[in-house]
Amino acid sequence: MSTLHDHAATIMRRSDELAAFTTVEGQITRPYGTSALLDARDQLAAWMGEADMSTHVDNVGNLFGRYEADTQSIDPKTFLVGGHFDSVVDAGRYDGTLGILTGIAVVQHLNETGRRFPFAIEVAAFADEEGNRFHTSFLGSSPVAGLWDPAWVTLEDDAGTPLKEAIRALGGDPEAIGSDTIDSGSVLGFIEVHIEQGPVLQDRNLPVAAVSSITGSLRATIEFAGMAGHAGTVPMALRRDALAGAAELVLAVEAVGASETDLVATVGTLECSPGASNVIPGHAHLTLDLRHPDSTIRERAYAGVRAQAEAIAERRSLDLDWTDSPSFAETVCDARLTKTLREAIAGEGIEPLSLFSGAGHDAITMANICPVTMLFVRCRDGISHNPAESIDEVDVEAALRVLERFLFAVAGQR
Ligand SMILES: [Zn+2]
Repeated sequence: MSTLHDHAATIMRRSDELAAFTTVEGQITRPYGTSALLDARDQLAAWMGEADMSTHVDNVGNLFGRYEADTQSIDPKTFLVGGHFDSVVDAGRYDGTLGILTGIAVVQHLNETGRRFPFAIEVAAFADEEGNRFHTSFLGSSPVAGLWDPAWVTLEDDAGTPLKEAIRALGGDPEAIGSDTIDSGSVLGFIEVHIEQGPVLQDRNLPVAAVSSITGSLRATIEFAGMAGHAGTVPMALRRDALAGAAELVLAVEAVGASETDLVATVGTLECSPGASNVIPGHAHLTLDLRHPDSTIRERAYAGVRAQAEAIAERRSLDLDWTDSPSFAETVCDARLTKTLREAIAGEGIEPLSLFSGAGHDAITMANICPVTMLFVRCRDGISHNPAESIDEVDVEAALRVLERFLFAVAGQR
């Protein structure tokens, strides 16, 4: 029989094993619909089997491992524990998979010690959260949570491969995805264990924290149009330089982001055309990503950036084309589940800190069908989406102890 201490060591080893499933040698790059993703799923299913879980796969390619309720419970409900196993390009080895591996480990420990709850536990392994290949968000959990948009099957990746083909590569039927929604009446809740992706836990010298909410984001694509011209012959006073206007806006966005606690604002892309060293840029195209957990502050800051873009365009005689991109409202974690989680943290002798998440997670979609909460685990220097992503085994053990204690507390409340 293994202790949770042993299981933490197993998770570290399994994280390394999963890292080997990649489409690019020498990296961890595991996009949706690839053979690397399929192989990772097979490996996860095998580990679920070892923990006495029955497994099934849905049409979008998610894997579920089910650990049945105790025999006394009639028509038991389900508690979901999960994460995602796709990755960004050149990723780290813990983002997403930690939620799956901790779920499997706790179930295995429960099974080894002969314990079951009045509800089934399902470990949900979502096939796509990052959305890098098809430029989507929460492709895996959306159908589960009843948020699948049938129009998505017409999406193509950058190479022109249709999403339909990627779905079939994972063994799914694109037309049947909409029927995979889990009945909200059957689900008690969803919890995801995830690396923090920020430096707060390291600063506070804490292994884990509860997540109170997931921040909302507002996004836009912005285009400045001026006049291209010869870099040698057009006098400075007569220029309508679109890139110079965009550059001013980049610095304005940075200043807005820095103007308030917990507010962040980013220009992540900037392109100009025609794009020659001796031509004044006639067009500049940039993107804005602005986040804050409070919608009032978020919207005020967003309006502030837009007003500055308009002022820059006016002053520089540029045309401004501002397009709002799909945005996300904040997701507030369920108060009762999160309180139970904080009590579980305190029960392990750890100061029960609550954080908000600046990154999006599947809990956003899952909140559509059930109460959600999340447990953050300290990661070195807050680094994520990077091969340097790093966590400590002792913190994984703390997460396992908290997760198991949390599930017992949920069972006790029923
Ligand atoms: Zn993630």
